[in-house]
Amino acid sequence: MRTVLVTGGAGFLGSHLCERLLGDWRVLCVDNFHTGSRENVEHLLSRDGFVLIEHDITETLAAERVDRIYNLASPASPVHYQRDPLYTLRTNVLGTLNMLELAREQGARFLQASTSEVYGDPLEHPQRESYWGHVNPVGIRSCYDEGKRCAETLTLDYHRQHGVDIRLVRIFNTYGPRMRSDDGRVVTNFIVQALSGADLTVYGEGNQTRSFCYVDDLIEGIVLCMETDTFPGPVNLGNPDEFGIGQLAREVIRLTSGRSRIVSCPLPQDDPRRRRPDIARARSLGWNPEVPLSRGLRRTIAWFRDRSANERSG
Ligand code: NAD
Ligand code: UDP
Repeated sequence: MRTVLVTGGAGFLGSHLCERLLGDWRVLCVDNFHTGSRENVEHLLSRDGFVLIEHDITETLAAERVDRIYNLASPASPVHYQRDPLYTLRTNVLGTLNMLELAREQGARFLQASTSEVYGDPLEHPQRESYWGHVNPVGIRSCYDEGKRCAETLTLDYHRQHGVDIRLVRIFNTYGPRMRSDDGRVVTNFIVQALSGADLTVYGEGNQTRSFCYVDDLIEGIVLCMETDTFPGPVNLGNPDEFGIGQLAREVIRLTSGRSRIVSCPLPQDDPRRRRPDIARARSLGWNPEVPLSRGLRRTIAWFRDRSANERSG
């Protein structure tokens, strides 16, 4: 059986990806639990072909022979990536460099998990892959935005200079089970707040937009991009249905049958005003997100409810 290495494998997306790959691949899950947790992959530990390796990718890794590397290691929530901005940069720049070196040494195919944040506060809408973005290089989000932009450059230069077989996906806001309750991103904040009867904290007026993709759809897109025969350039992966943040808050209250109020809080610096992927390129590869927001939110709410019930029962 061929072997795949997933960095950030004990995180939200990484744990779903490991689960999806296991069975077809031997899976080496590499994580230092910076924002992820052992609990996310606990159910995989007894499965044949699953290996958990505690390792920080800013250090070189002497791994056994691998055929694929999915590089997902990086904090993704603004709250977490801004907590230690230099470490976020080190992970995205040095960590990506280390993993690309490993791919080069081993002749492995390498997929970089990039982000819609490379478009910054976009002046083009919806965002196509050809758009170069509108990023503040000295702002509080730049450790992540510029870190990911540098990781993209490294990925492409390893391809151009060393012939590494690469794939590059730009992930738009994705949500679902296994996000941390203290993740800080909007979907989890609203669900946790609504389930506990707390006020929902809308930053600013709530008319900024995002396009939310359910995790199962996203994982299928990532695997498809990795296994596609040719590299078509960066591929946007996200659900193009666009929602205002105020609208999302009202939807979460409706779906939880909650009684929470919506309160307005200060808008964080450099918060992008609009975000929506053009997914024509991903569609041409045969991918199309299928889970609408209301269904994905119901599943995520059910997961958070179950988890807090389990915690209460001990
Ligand atoms: P997450 O924080 O749940 O997962 C990131 C994982 O990487 C965690 O398990 C963390 O412990 C690990 N990690 C961080 N630094 C590391 C290091 N130096 N060495 C080893 N492991 C390290 O976040 P996520 O939402 O699952 O995001 C996964 C990837 O997808 C990230 O690269 C992120 O930038 C990208 N992405 C996610 C989204 C989204 O909406 N979820 C959107 C765009 C891009
Ligand atoms: N947001 C909000 N309330 C929250 C958390 C976030 O209104 O409790 C807003 C945030 O300002 C942004 C959007 O929701 O406009 C998405 O934020 P998130 O942190 O989930 O991801 P981003 O797309 O900004 O990286």
